Amino acid sequence: MEFLFPKQIAKRDKETFYQSKYEYYGRIGHFAVIMMGIAEMIYFFTDCQLFGKIKLDTLLPRLSVLIPLVLYILVHKKRKDYKINMIFAYLVAHGSMWATIWAVYFLENKDFAREGFIIMHFGFMIIGLCYPVKYSGPIHSLMLLNIAISNQFIHYEAYTMMITLAIPLYFSIVLMEKVVENSFVQQYNAQKKLAELSTTDQLTQVYNRNKLDSIVEPGTEAFAFDDVENIVMLILDIDYFKKINDTYGHEDGDKILVFVTEQIKRQIRSDDMIIRWGGEEFVIILKNLSPEVGKRIAERIRQSIEKADNQVSPITVSIGVAAYDKHSYRETFKEADKALYNAKRKGRNKVCCSF
Ligand code: GH3
Ligand code: MG
Ligand code: MG
Repeated sequence: MEFLFPKQIAKRDKETFYQSKYEYYGRIGHFAVIMMGIAEMIYFFTDCQLFGKIKLDTLLPRLSVLIPLVLYILVHKKRKDYKINMIFAYLVAHGSMWATIWAVYFLENKDFAREGFIIMHFGFMIIGLCYPVKYSGPIHSLMLLNIAISNQFIHYEAYTMMITLAIPLYFSIVLMEKVVENSFVQQYNAQKKLAELSTTDQLTQVYNRNKLDSIVEPGTEAFAFDDVENIVMLILDIDYFKKINDTYGHEDGDKILVFVTEQIKRQIRSDDMIIRWGGEEFVIILKNLSPEVGKRIAERIRQSIEKADNQVSPITVSIGVAAYDKHSYRETFKEADKALYNAKRKGRNKVCCSF
């Protein structure tokens, strides 16, 4: 029964889950929306078959679907947000249904509307795959309402048949969509785990360099944090670490690396970041503070590592500090690296700043 009652997604993760589902199924949903619009227009020729000749009565109703279709295409190009896309996708789907109803109004034989509506359920089904079932279910159910309302002025001969066919079809589609949504939970969790693994350093459990991809604005060198005014970057390097490895062995060297990250964590806030840049070098990103406060934190980190007992051998670190210029993390990194070089040159166990 896992497919009906899957392990739940944490509440704060829900929006990311739905967005991720949209990004996964969105392409086939997009195709379905476009095809629904095109099919609606082509049905003009089906109308002519029913009339037995070319008759323009249903041309305008059938072409009216162009309005929601063009709107949808414009929005789809600009917005990648699933909620906005969903509104416009369903505008095409329901628009297509009302275009059909409008066309059927002119047809002498209205029986075929039944088949038309059944075909539409499948369009709704594919579109529904892309969005949360809590929205797609109710929006799809409006199809039944459309039929009921339009029956007031069209008076379908097979109205009861139409409804009795539509109801079980509707429920099976929504159930199927729920099963698909639930099975996506597994895939989403696996994807998330993989992303975590690829950005986490397995020894120290802090971030590794791959994390940069998700914190830098694509195509630029600027950080992509929301609500962050000032950033101070620290580069920390353990002093004479090679000697520790040579004297105590790699395993104790590893213990010291873990110890250093623990000490850094104690001095920073939860939304600051530690990245293991390479061997025994860490980049620390401090958010929303002045360079002066950043320098003080660097000094606190240096002192705590010097004083705390790491159960292997006393160690010290050198730290370079630079203030982010809001344009290029690389430039900031270079400045912090220069400051670190100065700290080493001045005898190590020091904090040096680029400002
Ligand atoms: P300095 O004060 O100039 O920084 O001297 P250092 O010896 O710390 O600098 P160097 O860059 O020459 O040495 C870094 C050493 O870090 C070399 C390597 O043995 C060690 N190292 C790199 N990665 C790891 C690791 O994952 N585990 C352990 N135990 N050692 C590592
Ligand atoms: Mg070193
Ligand atoms: Mg080094």
